[in-house]
Amino acid sequence: MQRYLTLEAIQAKCDSLMNEYEIDEEKFYHIVEKWAEEDAPIETKLLASFSELLQVVSDEISSMEKSVELQATCRLGCAFCCYFPIIINEMEAKFMKKAIANFPASRRMKVEEHLVHYYQKYGESLKPILELDFDEDTDFKLKYRKSLIPCPMLNTETNQCMAYEIRPLPCRTYVNYTDPKVCEDNLMPKETISFEFLYGEYMGALNEFLQFLYEKGDTGFIQYPEDAYKHDYLANWLR
Ligand code: SF4
Repeated sequence: MQRYLTLEAIQAKCDSLMNEYEIDEEKFYHIVEKWAEEDAPIETKLLASFSELLQVVSDEISSMEKSVELQATCRLGCAFCCYFPIIINEMEAKFMKKAIANFPASRRMKVEEHLVHYYQKYGESLKPILELDFDEDTDFKLKYRKSLIPCPMLNTETNQCMAYEIRPLPCRTYVNYTDPKVCEDNLMPKETISFEFLYGEYMGALNEFLQFLYEKGDTGFIQYPEDAYKHDYLANWLR
């Protein structure tokens, strides 16, 4: 029988991470500096820096895990975390939508059809949870989670994300290191870990890049800085 880490053991490893690990900020800023100099269309620069920054978030988590010998127990086809609210800003939503629009035609059509069915199926039941005030309501996560409505990008037949490589930061930073059953048995498992603090480096680098483009007079399909300040549920952005 497989033995999993206890909550205490996970907490101890996280504590030593916090005390000893230094986030490599340079990796984040290196990407935007590289794309700032690149001779490429603005849309290419924006989408490439967005997806590369997301990848750096994932790489940084892997590096932290390695440093304290943590191994995620999340597995392909396990998608309980895809029933949590995902909140992103309008800039990230536009990046996602543009990246989906650039998927190969058959994949893009599948996503589009899926989204049509999704909003037909959940339209009415989504209304109350998408009105939950995530700034003021301290209980909004649990209320949203209780609705048992999946993320719009989740294929509930395969339990796989239809936009996996561009999945937003909250999806990458939520990890389980103990028995996967804790996610199945609890709406809000206390054992899971969030690396959401990496948002600072990720969004800091993106903002720096957009600021640079803004000063140059071309931010492409992004309305800057307005888009960086508007936050909403992914299910509202993709509607
Ligand atoms: S975007 Fe993908 S990974 Fe994130 S919650 Fe939705 S289905 Fe899950």
